[in-house]
Amino acid sequence: MKQADIIICGDYVVTMNEKMDLITKGAIAIKDGRIIDIGQENSIRKNYLSKTLIDGKDKALLPGLINTHTHAAMVYYRGLADDLPLKEWWEQHMFPAETKTLSHEFILDALELACLEMIKSGVTTFNDMYFFGDSAAESTIKSGIRGIIGVGILDFPSVSAKTQEEYFNNVQVLIDKYKGHELITPCISPHALYTCSPETFKKAQEMAEKHDISIHIHLSETEWEVSEILSRYGKRPVNLLHSIGFLSQRVLAAHCVWLNDEEIDLLAQTGTSVSHCLESNMKLASGFAPIVKMIKSGVNVSIGTDGAASNNDLSMIGEMSTVAKVHKAIEKDPTAIDDRTTLKMATINGAKALAMEHLIGSLEKGKYADIVSINLKKPHLTPLYDIYSHIVYSSISSDVDTVIVNGKLLMENGYVLTLDEDEVIKKSNKWVDQISKFKK
Ligand SMILES: [Zn+2]
Repeated sequence: MKQADIIICGDYVVTMNEKMDLITKGAIAIKDGRIIDIGQENSIRKNYLSKTLIDGKDKALLPGLINTHTHAAMVYYRGLADDLPLKEWWEQHMFPAETKTLSHEFILDALELACLEMIKSGVTTFNDMYFFGDSAAESTIKSGIRGIIGVGILDFPSVSAKTQEEYFNNVQVLIDKYKGHELITPCISPHALYTCSPETFKKAQEMAEKHDISIHIHLSETEWEVSEILSRYGKRPVNLLHSIGFLSQRVLAAHCVWLNDEEIDLLAQTGTSVSHCLESNMKLASGFAPIVKMIKSGVNVSIGTDGAASNNDLSMIGEMSTVAKVHKAIEKDPTAIDDRTTLKMATINGAKALAMEHLIGSLEKGKYADIVSINLKKPHLTPLYDIYSHIVYSSISSDVDTVIVNGKLLMENGYVLTLDEDEVIKKSNKWVDQISKFKK
């Protein structure tokens, strides 16, 4: 018998590996943060000894969900300014609120709330873009989930930096502190082409290449952005980025709502990944990203929630359901995006988008043990004919029962072990008076 740290079982083990293997009455053996074996429960329990054995009755195990675009700290601006177009929402509400309220303390507290929400809804990795990355990293580590912390860059002063040098220095500080960390991956995030010049994008690219980190940007989110970039530079956003040699596998572009066929091909050819943020795009009425066309053209499409101020939650389970349903309606074709494709977008495609597919995104031997268990003993998950269907079309965030990241139990039977839920909520409510001055 070999020793494992944890054995977790499930009536269904949804591996999301290349062959889409589905194991019934399965189990996963975990040691030193990694999956060391996966297979039938009988054989795993015959071969491994473990002090921690998690029962699998009425449970489905799946890879932890990967949220590829968010601004986690914006959970504190949830519901602050709704029912507005993006430009007005950002310029008149979010940016002024950020200018007056953001601080290291704000990010520390807000990230605890965001991580709590993500753990409870089965997210084990999030790709962030915001400010005060060091504080974001600190709370992420405390919560135990995996964070790709994108340090935001703008061409004008903000609370996080006054000069370009300071913005880039913020990135360097995070790289120096966290490069090689087991949970935190530093990333560089020039915000968008309407807030950063092509020169700033090139500078960010040079830094990313030098340190081998990924680049996280907003791209072609609104029709206004496309016409603005066309009038400033004579090129559409994707064309402009391609013309300066910016697009590559290193780049994860959030939104990509307003693309023409040529731009879709450019994303596919360059290996640029997309984070589809449908609920945010719907709420800000930005439009519908042509993801069915993108997938057909070979673009790697993943899913993001965007910040909670424009969604208004961080639920990837909710997002999956919306994605699968809305695109059927847009295409007038119920086969346009199926349950399996949608779950891939929320797992393995997300891992590819972050250049982490060798580490996360599926349940396979050797990968990090980032595992979510769903409680199937619910009226809305009964009866069960197809587990993929239930995960995508029927499950809700509160069905998430147990969460493991990096081989560590973060939540068991719905109880979060790394953060004190009451304390986090109490702490968050203390910020309300200060933030509510910016209410719409
Ligand atoms: Zn965003």
